[in-house]
Amino acid sequence: APALVWFRRDLRDHDHAALAAALASGRPVHCAFVFDRDILDALPSRTDRRVEFIHGSLLQLDAALRQRGGGLIVRHGHAGEEIPRLAGELGVAEVYANRDYEPAAQARDAAVDRQLATTGGRLHLLKDQVIFECDEVLSGAGRPYTVFTPYKNAWRKRLSTADHAPFTTQGRFPPAPAGLPTLAELGFAPTDLPELGIVPGMAGARRLWDEFRAGRIHRYGTLRDFPAVKGVSYLSVHLRFGTISIRELVSAALAEQADAWLNELIWRDFYFMILDRFPQVVDRAFKPEYDAIRWADWPEGLAAWQQGRTGYPLVDAAMRQLNHSGWMHNRLRMVVASFLCKDLGLDWRLGERYFAERLNDFDLAANNGGWQWAASSGCDAQPWFRIFNPVTQSEKFDPDGKFIRRYVPELARVPDKYIHAPWTMGRLEQEALGVVIGRDYPGPIVDHAAAREKTLARYAVVKKAV
Ligand code: FAD
Repeated sequence: APALVWFRRDLRDHDHAALAAALASGRPVHCAFVFDRDILDALPSRTDRRVEFIHGSLLQLDAALRQRGGGLIVRHGHAGEEIPRLAGELGVAEVYANRDYEPAAQARDAAVDRQLATTGGRLHLLKDQVIFECDEVLSGAGRPYTVFTPYKNAWRKRLSTADHAPFTTQGRFPPAPAGLPTLAELGFAPTDLPELGIVPGMAGARRLWDEFRAGRIHRYGTLRDFPAVKGVSYLSVHLRFGTISIRELVSAALAEQADAWLNELIWRDFYFMILDRFPQVVDRAFKPEYDAIRWADWPEGLAAWQQGRTGYPLVDAAMRQLNHSGWMHNRLRMVVASFLCKDLGLDWRLGERYFAERLNDFDLAANNGGWQWAASSGCDAQPWFRIFNPVTQSEKFDPDGKFIRRYVPELARVPDKYIHAPWTMGRLEQEALGVVIGRDYPGPIVDHAAAREKTLARYAVVKKAV
């Protein structure tokens, strides 16, 4: 009997744990992907870059499998029903997939496994997305780490070559009927991915990776914090959809001794592990006492933040970068997240949700981890009394305002000394430049010093609890 590999967030045909395991069984291997209505129907818009990215990635995966005699079977429906049905049609008992650490995905996979079991089948789940998962890296006391540095040290200590060796995917693929549904048939409109220069699939990942590895990987540690500089890898959307293998990246980071960059890949493992071991973080604070905080009820503040019109240039430039492209620089994710919670006094979940809607690389584990870090409610988070000053952050990480001017063109003519806090310009100077604060660009939505005091008071419930 043949086997079936169910692709989800691992859209490549090489170095793929589930594919390797299925092929190693010696059976001919069918390959399938389901556009899951449970996920797609819940998306807020029918124009979604992620759906187009997946679609483009599947075209490449299908073409790669066809070169090897196979092809991708693509269905549109509820994955929980489609996979058992497809297994029945193909006469497959053994279904293989790579493990997903999100609670909803785990529930779905358990249901599929139960359904397959009714006809004597099984869903085999493999580790592929991460180097170490679940309880593979534990503290001396046998518990999951909740602080990054000791986790990282234990992760590195445990690492052997076998942990990042590629999986070989040689074997037999039975032919598949040709033809994927079009984006329109899925009910989605084309997006601006091509205009943004975002190339999906294995080809897009390869291009970014070759460029990063050839040049920037060694300068990552010094360039990574400056949003105006091309310093980072831009691989997050590819890691999200598995168009490149984490093992390949870790192997190269080790070979190049690119420790600063390797660290980020370890953060990625860390947050997957946290989500898997502490699934309550999906809607609650990792540190429960933080759920006692009373957040502000301020829809206008949230809207100004979302639309990039808070009057703080770096915050606004960052939010406009997100709205324009679906990506935001890591330093800016920290700045705008802190601004939402600690300047506007709004619940981190509101920001988390907005990011989830907008980020091409949206990933529940990393996004939740990042937001809870900024809100101070997470494991190993920013201490609650540490509050980013949005002007100082701007002076430090966008010193000549180059990034600000790119995304907030109405400030293009503002001199460097005022670019981080344009409301400090005199009225006459504003008139002379033709950039009047309150008319051409908003005044600051809050006074940072006053907001800081309010936040310290708001967070005091936490201090009382510890
Ligand atoms: P690089 O700097 O080149 O890093 C390489 C890879 O390491 C990234 O692609 C990513 O997979 C991983 N990585 C880097 N930093 C982190 C981190 N802090 N946590 C986990 N993994 C990391 N990342 C996402 O992939 N999806 C998200 O939804 C997401 N939401 C975030 C929300 C907030 C509030 C914050 C502060 C961070 C968030 N991050 C998220 C982490 C980080 O900002 C992005 O991974 C990074 O900016 C992506 O750009 P890059 O691929 O060029 O990263």
